[in-house]
Amino acid sequence: MDAMIPYVTDTPDIAIPASLLPADGRFGSGPSKVRTAAVEALGAAAAGYLGTSHRQQTVKSVVGSLRAGLAELFSLPDGYEVVLGNGGTTCFWDAATFGLIERRSQHLSFGEFSSKFATAAAEAPHLDQPAVITSEAGTHPMAVADPDVDLYALTHNETSTGVMMDVVRPDGAAAPADGGGLVAVDATSGAGGLRVDPSQFDVYYFAPQKCFGSDGGLWVALLSPAAVERIERIHASGRWTPAFLDLHIALENSRLDQTYNTPALATVFLFDDQVRWFNDNGGLEFSAGRCDRSAEILYSWAEASPFATPFVARADERSRVVGTIDVSDDVDAATVAAVLRRNGVVDTEPYRKLGRNQLRIAMFPAVDPEDVAALCACVNYVVGALAP
Ligand SMILES: *Cc1c(COP(=O)(O)O)cnc(C)c1O
Repeated sequence: MDAMIPYVTDTPDIAIPASLLPADGRFGSGPSKVRTAAVEALGAAAAGYLGTSHRQQTVKSVVGSLRAGLAELFSLPDGYEVVLGNGGTTCFWDAATFGLIERRSQHLSFGEFSSKFATAAAEAPHLDQPAVITSEAGTHPMAVADPDVDLYALTHNETSTGVMMDVVRPDGAAAPADGGGLVAVDATSGAGGLRVDPSQFDVYYFAPQKCFGSDGGLWVALLSPAAVERIERIHASGRWTPAFLDLHIALENSRLDQTYNTPALATVFLFDDQVRWFNDNGGLEFSAGRCDRSAEILYSWAEASPFATPFVARADERSRVVGTIDVSDDVDAATVAAVLRRNGVVDTEPYRKLGRNQLRIAMFPAVDPEDVAALCACVNYVVGALAP
C-alpha cells in the first residue's frame, strides 16, 4: 500500500487481495480520474506548451481544437457556439444571473448543485424572484411551461444524489424564437457521459473535472443562437456586469480561441485530449456507452446484493455517471469507504450533506467498466471481512 495515502486511524486493518483490486482505484465524482495517457501526452507536449503565452498560436490552437472537438462531440447545429471562461460552473451560475436571465427564471431544485443556482438567482437584486420547483432527494421534478419565465434551469445529472434527467424542453413551452424561455442545463457531471439532443437546450454548461477527465477551474457553455441573442440583448441594454462575469466578453474572446484572463494551460490540454479520445473512438455514443456498461454492472450488483440497494428508486432516473448505493444498517458505509481508501480505492464516500449510509461511485467515461466490477467485488470482500 502507498504509505502516502492518509486514512482514519481506527480503520479496520483489512487488506483486500490484489487479485480483486481495480487496475485504477479512482472513483471520485470530481475531481475525477484523469487518464494516464492524457497525462503522458501533456508531459510529452510540456516543453513547447506549458509556460507559453495563451495569446499566441500554440495555446490558441489547443483552445480552437477543444471548441471544434466539443461542437463535433455534441453534433452542434449551425449557429451554436462553444464559449469558455475561467471559474468553473459555480462562476457560470453568477455569470448567468447577469448575462442570461432577463427578468425571471424557473429552477428545478433536487439536490445540492441545482439548489445553488436557484439561490444565486434569488439573491440577485436586478432579477425578480425565481420560481423554484423542488422534489425529494433521489427524485427530480419536471419543468412547467410558464410564459412569465425567460429561462428554465435544468440539471442533467444531480451529482449530490445520483439522479439523472432527460434534457427536454418543458412540455407546451413556446420556442425561444417565439418568445419562450431559454433552456439552460447544468451538465457539469453529465456532459460527455450522457446522451443529449442539442435541439432541446439553449445553454448546456459544464466544467472539465468530471466526464472530461481534466482539472477544475474552467467553464464551458454550448450556446444556441437564441442564447447568443439573449447575451447580446442584455449587453445592449446596458445592465451593469462585472467584467469577469460578462458573457458578452467571454463570447468575444472565445470566438478568438481565447479566454478573458489566463486559463490553466494543463487543464485546457487534458480537456482537449479527452474530447479527442471520445471523438476518435466514436463520439458521444462511445463515451456514454462506457458509462452505460459501468452503470449496468453497478446497479445489477446492488440489486442482487443482500446489503446494497440503489438509492434512486426509479431505474430510469438512476445516473449512469454517478451511482449512489445505500447499504443496510448493519453495515457502516463510512467504514467500508475508509477500508477501500486504505487499499488505494478512493473517493467512494457519499456526498457529505446528503447524510445517508451510502457509497457514491463515479462512472465517468475514463473509468473502466471492468474496474467498476472489481470495485463491487472489493465491497463484497470488505463487508464480508467486517461481519462479526
Ligand atoms: C461539480 C458540479 C458543480 C460544481 O462545479 P465547479 O466547477 O466546482 O464549480 C456544479 N454542478 C454540478 C451538477 C456538479 O456536478
